[in-house]
Amino acid sequence: MKSKDAFEEPVSECDDAIHRLYYFMDGALTEDKRVQIKKHLDACPPCLRVYDFEEELRQVIANHCQETVPEGLRERVAAAIEEEAKKSLHRSKAKERREARQEAQGNAS
Ligand SMILES: [Zn+2]
Repeated sequence: MKSKDAFEEPVSECDDAIHRLYYFMDGALTEDKRVQIKKHLDACPPCLRVYDFEEELRQVIANHCQETVPEGLRERVAAAIEEEAKKSLHRSKAKERREARQEAQGNAS
């Protein structure tokens, strides 16, 4: 009996599909293999989740390389940097004031 029932060895089916996902996304597979993996993804939610995650990750990386950072993210990063700058400015101002006070006290006595 040579029938390859996908449900007989679900684990190796999934391993195979996930192993090929990278080639799949690179478009490095033959049409036959692509159809095979698409079928598996349709039938196997866990593998589809892996695929979705990888695909999303690739999108993020692709966007990053094109330097098209989403507007919301850029604002958040800018705000965080500004916040840090304010903090360090505040710290150095406080230090200045402390030093000035010490100097004044030193002069008074
Ligand atoms: Zn699977």
